[in-house]
Amino acid sequence: MIDIDRFSFDVECPECRFATKIFYRDARLRDVLICRGCKANIQLNDHMNECRKVRRQVSSAIADLERTIESFGKTIRLNF
Ligand SMILES: [Zn+2]
Repeated sequence: MIDIDRFSFDVECPECRFATKIFYRDARLRDVLICRGCKANIQLNDHMNECRKVRRQVSSAIADLERTIESFGKTIRLNF
């Protein structure tokens, strides 16, 4: 299972628009960041539980990929 806590993405500071890189884990835990541009505190707000939805989507996408690779492997085996 891939640990998506270490996936990173950029968020824009609401004050100065400076992009700060955060990790999925920070968003999931609703961490507070300090903007590297203006030093404002940015409270990460996951009010719609988007993190949980994303985690579920990533898990299901990976499961699909695993099934595809598996069937691909079987196809290759049949050809030899
Ligand atoms: Zn800022």
